[in-house]
Amino acid sequence: MDSSLTGRIAEVQRRIDAACERSGRKPEDVNVIAVTKYVSLATAVQAFDEGLRHLGENRFQDALPKWEAISGETAEGGDGQAIWHFIGSLQTNKVKDVIGKFTYIHSLDRLSLAQAIEKRAAQLGVQVPCMIQVNVSGEDSKHGLEPEQLPELLEAIKSFQYVQPVGLMTMAPYEAEAEQTRPVFRALRELRDKMNATVALNAPLTELSMGMSNDFEVAIEEGATWVRLGTILVGKEG
Ligand SMILES: *Cc1c(COP(=O)(O)O)cnc(C)c1O
Repeated sequence: MDSSLTGRIAEVQRRIDAACERSGRKPEDVNVIAVTKYVSLATAVQAFDEGLRHLGENRFQDALPKWEAISGETAEGGDGQAIWHFIGSLQTNKVKDVIGKFTYIHSLDRLSLAQAIEKRAAQLGVQVPCMIQVNVSGEDSKHGLEPEQLPELLEAIKSFQYVQPVGLMTMAPYEAEAEQTRPVFRALRELRDKMNATVALNAPLTELSMGMSNDFEVAIEEGATWVRLGTILVGKEG
């Protein structure tokens, strides 16, 4: 197998295509987020140069130099802009830094955070598509709200003008056998469908942010629209 970045991108796409084939889905409905948190600035820039446009980070301080370099680069034109995804747990006091730089938030997990995002987004006049992070597996160590708390949060943010709930996000526990993660991903899809059927939303939840290096093929088979790939795609350095 080609271990260069170009080779890894091709290999990941081949595996995405195969997972889509197995589950009767269209590859263009599965978006890849290149998670650059384990790699250097140089590698993140290289990922952008290789054509990866969706970039994900989970800590603002670590992301900032990469954001500055890559967003600066795109400003010179060429083939499209980087779109940044905030995928880690977000402290309310970091919201003022994150909103405006990161287009998508994948870790909305409480009303106070939604309120902070709404306030900052209103100041900047930007819409913020958000995935609500749900702790489907019930593992204590995983962030996210409990499935039962979801309707209440969705109701509470319905009147917000800038926070747009577009879907759900989850993390499956690490399993040596990826197949073991399937119930978690299936549960997230069923939860999304249930919310669409039972909560009067302004717009249906369409997105499912689920699947990482270890388990993305299973997540795709269960309906992932965003897979968040670090190690397998851009690598892990240091
Ligand atoms: C680090 C991280 C990823 C990517 O992890 P890999 O296993 O390296 O693909 C995806 N999602 C979240 C929330 C992360 O923190």
